Amino acid sequence: MDCIFCKIVNGDIPSSKVYEDDLILAFNDIQPVAPVHVVIIPKAHTMNGAADITAENSSVIAHIFETIPKIAKEKGIENGFRVVTNNGTDAGQSVNHIHFHLIGGKVLEAKIG
Ligand code: AMP
Ligand code: ZN
Repeated sequence: MDCIFCKIVNGDIPSSKVYEDDLILAFNDIQPVAPVHVVIIPKAHTMNGAADITAENSSVIAHIFETIPKIAKEKGIENGFRVVTNNGTDAGQSVNHIHFHLIGGKVLEAKIG
């Protein structure tokens, strides 16, 4: 599968790693939209996007959300942050390996969408 995030997991493409454990990887976004912009992914490519989340595979998603406060603290953005996932064409998803954007480090625009 020609997936850029799988290549990052495998080490075939370098990344600026922020957090890693057996299940998930977090790295700095290459085109940050804010002073802090981290991409968090399951290492296994079991879901293309949020539309693929089920009761059977959601434990890794819970793990990502349990880890987000730790990353936010490490990055010093406890003051406020946003977690975003884009699913599908209309949302502008550009990498079809489920991922969550953790964004902060500035006052974010009040509106999304
Ligand atoms: P999305 O548009 O929601 O699918 O998000 C994909 C994100 O991955 C974008 O914000 C890209 O800037 C980011 N991205 C793409 N390639 C890389 C890379 N090699 N290293 C870090 N971030 C990347
Ligand atoms: Zn992948």
